[in-house]
Amino acid sequence: MAKIAKVEVLPIRMPADKTWFESGFDETIVVRITDENGIQGIGDAYASSHAVGGFLTMPTLNMWSHNIPDLLIGKDPLETTHLWDLMYDTTIFPGRRGLAIHAISAVDIALHDLAARQIGVPLYKLLGGQRRPHITPYATIFPGLVGKRSMREMMRLVEGQFDQAIALGFRVLKFEVLFYEHVTDRELVDLIKEGRRMVGDDIVMPVDFGYRWKNWHDAKWVIDRIADCNVLFAEAPLQHDDLAGHAKLAAQSPIRIGGAEFAATRWEVFEWLDRGRVSVIQAGISRAGGFTELMRIADLCEYYGAEVATLAWHTGITAAAARHFQAAVANAPVIEYFPPELFGSPLRRDLVSPEPKVVDGNIALPTEPGLGIALNEEIVAKYAVKLG
Ligand code: MG
Repeated sequence: MAKIAKVEVLPIRMPADKTWFESGFDETIVVRITDENGIQGIGDAYASSHAVGGFLTMPTLNMWSHNIPDLLIGKDPLETTHLWDLMYDTTIFPGRRGLAIHAISAVDIALHDLAARQIGVPLYKLLGGQRRPHITPYATIFPGLVGKRSMREMMRLVEGQFDQAIALGFRVLKFEVLFYEHVTDRELVDLIKEGRRMVGDDIVMPVDFGYRWKNWHDAKWVIDRIADCNVLFAEAPLQHDDLAGHAKLAAQSPIRIGGAEFAATRWEVFEWLDRGRVSVIQAGISRAGGFTELMRIADLCEYYGAEVATLAWHTGITAAAARHFQAAVANAPVIEYFPPELFGSPLRRDLVSPEPKVVDGNIALPTEPGLGIALNEEIVAKYAVKLG
């Protein structure tokens, strides 16, 4: 196979809705890898582009603090697992978790895209092939943070987004109840019940609490009172690192508990499963280590009777990666999916194309080589930012 000839790091920052992004800007960082024949693969990381970019462009210091692009030149992109381990092993001085793994995620996604394009197959075939008849996305329903708006206004916006997502073909809708101090726990119960009434009985509805509680008893009080709302899973009820609290809540909750969306590597997910005892692992492909690590995580989940519902909160690259991941994984019943029409930044709509249609709740399996998407060069050029 043709060897890797070039690795580009492309940070992008563009204007976005302020109720979503406090800065008024949304960002991503694209990694583009080109082989000797000019074939390209792309990936991105869901984290601050300046922070991830700093990691990917750091000069080599020693054998444990290596520049990743230098490391990859001349290598065979098909050797994805070998290259993942190489990137991890040669960056353990500043790396091992967090930003380093988000950076490796972008590279790993790009390597898979490139390798599948070289062979001429849809990427999911490199992950082992088809494990389900179609892709089942859930639409995340989030009208932004409350700010100065009333809860009545927020619920009107939620209802509008529910209707829009159903009209777009979605049948699983995640209700983001990120209302924090604007509602009491008692009011929150009523709002979730109202949300269930809005979507009707036939829609599957996970609920995201956005790390609302610091105490598992309080989380349980609300979750017990929405037990009859047919909630698919309760996401992020407690602080991200409160694994003991998650374990106590999971043992008593009538609803599956989800978490680990910001985790990086299988080792962190192992902690979530072994100590946190959650049933739904939401680690993201563009954060937790790319396809290589997410496949390891999906295998790990099998041993714990857990499922993977991968975080895919951001760009069209992340959405495409989630489609291929789910196509190849048996214990991934849904993937997160932001319809571009409902996202608070044009980055979701404009960075790549095409965007597949959702029909009766499902998306057809990808057929084009690699991720099956193309980068919008105009957007990359127009919104490129300098690092540092
Ligand atoms: Mg989430």
